[in-house]
Amino acid sequence: MNSHFRIAVKFCAASVLAGFMGAIAPAAGALIWNVEYLDAAGSGFNDGTFGAQRRSTLGSVLSYVSGVLSAENGTIDLRVDVSQSDGTGFLAQGGTYFNPSAPAGYYNGFAYDHVRSGGDPSATVPDATILVDFGYVWNSGLGAPAANQYDLFSVLLHEITHTLGFNSQVMQDGSSFFGSNNPGIFNVFDSYLALAGGQNLFGAGGHFLGVANDLISGNVVFRSPSSGDDFLMYSPDPFEGGSSLQHFSGISGAVMLPSYSRGSSIRSYSPADCTVLVDIGWSASCGAIPEPSSGWLLTAGLALLLAAICRIGDQERRRFDSVDLVAL
Ligand SMILES: [Zn+2]
Repeated sequence: MNSHFRIAVKFCAASVLAGFMGAIAPAAGALIWNVEYLDAAGSGFNDGTFGAQRRSTLGSVLSYVSGVLSAENGTIDLRVDVSQSDGTGFLAQGGTYFNPSAPAGYYNGFAYDHVRSGGDPSATVPDATILVDFGYVWNSGLGAPAANQYDLFSVLLHEITHTLGFNSQVMQDGSSFFGSNNPGIFNVFDSYLALAGGQNLFGAGGHFLGVANDLISGNVVFRSPSSGDDFLMYSPDPFEGGSSLQHFSGISGAVMLPSYSRGSSIRSYSPADCTVLVDIGWSASCGAIPEPSSGWLLTAGLALLLAAICRIGDQERRRFDSVDLVAL
């Protein structure tokens, strides 16, 4: 926790669970994160033993991201949903909301929109949400994870990065998650997807130009306009909704890989991670990325959680990354 953050408290009126909220603000010229926690006393981020440390680690993640995005000024409303504790399925999820009624085209989602427009995109939903399954064995603090632990900082950094727009709305047939029309509503991220050594998969205005087989070819790249790199993306056969296309493939040390393993950590952006953030529109300082600590690991997929504790409006939908557990 550092000067980039301040903490406040909030309750979710629609819930029987008390929420508490933290706001993260820097002195001047930085991001403010309004963080709302929905966990009840005694569980998850409000656990009697580990809660404070878990919240502190999320604060450290947001501080790190704010440092990378130090040229940005604005607010992001982040809701931390009621934690899971079953220790099965995904490790964590993260996503941002979109307006499904918007014209076809490319969007980064509400988190980006809130920062850049200066106005709250929705009065009924936050900009982004994350969810963690604390049923797994976690390294909650900033020390090195033990061999049997997943590193909370690393996983939270991965999820927060999805909320910034490192995400895809492309379904397995090339249509948008928000509807089957072509053109459709896609991420800005999607607009840079291409085939390695070949054509771009999207054209102006949200037009998908490829065919379904392209998306399971193992040959999809993110064609970086700023660096000229083709970053290989995860595009397995069969298509993995929520994981395909929105994670790197085989880029060592990247935060945005589709799987993480116990006993390791990745707590800072690789050049590829940061380059993508720049390409989708953020003012990110990729040259001198602060190192919060060391280490990491994880896997991802997609899940829809349209209902939650607080009521979600009809005009916004969010697409999640879900992190599937892969023991490596
Ligand atoms: Zn992911």
